[in-house]
Amino acid sequence: MPWLWPSATAAFLILIHVAPVMALVRGTRPADWGAFCVGYAIASLGAVGGLHRYFAHASFRTSRVFQLLIALAGCAVGGDPISFTARHRRHHRLADTGDDVHGPHQGWFYCWFGTLVDYAMSEREMLQLAPDLAAWPELRWLHRWSFVPAFGAAAVAALVGGFTMFAIGYCLPAALIVNFGSAVNYFGHRGRRRSYPTRDRSSNSWLLALVSFGEGWHNNHHYYPAACRSGFAWWEIDVMYYELRLLAWLGLIWDLKEVPAHVRAQVRAASGRRW
Ligand SMILES: [Zn+2]
Ligand SMILES: [Zn+2]
Repeated sequence: MPWLWPSATAAFLILIHVAPVMALVRGTRPADWGAFCVGYAIASLGAVGGLHRYFAHASFRTSRVFQLLIALAGCAVGGDPISFTARHRRHHRLADTGDDVHGPHQGWFYCWFGTLVDYAMSEREMLQLAPDLAAWPELRWLHRWSFVPAFGAAAVAALVGGFTMFAIGYCLPAALIVNFGSAVNYFGHRGRRRSYPTRDRSSNSWLLALVSFGEGWHNNHHYYPAACRSGFAWWEIDVMYYELRLLAWLGLIWDLKEVPAHVRAQVRAASGRRW
């Protein structure tokens, strides 16, 4: 019953924020923070490396098995590959216009949380915007049942370590990823620091990049979204890019798309300039 999804998403968002606060008030154990490290690593890889850089932008290639694993990790933090990709591709095409799916012009609350509940796009439009992903039966299944991996991850944490491990090992990483993603959607289109004259209002922020695994180099990304990195210059720290390079070294992913030399040269010339 699709009409239930917005309410279920809202309940999910409330839960992942409230549960960690309750756990911190009641007291946590070192094992809970061990689970947090594992959960945060999986959640960030699923959301940033998986949903954004792989599914939405196809910035590297991988096996069908690893593709499924990063899809499951993405779903565990509340986003399935087909929905995310369709909405994100529309964002790139229509960023900062009235038809954008999220942006500061819609107001802080809608851009930060509302857009996560209100997809503002029909099922048909989603499948049309992500035909490459809709071709995979397992991704279509996850599109319909995206809450299953989230329930699974939450259940594992709860069964292993009770409420505090559920709250710190599952909910807290999910909450951080959701908020850092929304921070990029909001502040990444509000700042003044731009290296490239894109049609939209995307901006770069080293602080945002530090907390969002490199996604804060958002103006770079809007200028050349096909690359597997958002930090184009060596000093633009992009932790997810380093992780992807590690995964490539391990043989789990390959054909990483780099930033062409002429684009890299431009950023060296233009860095720090305010457009
Ligand atoms: Zn953007
Ligand atoms: Zn993107």
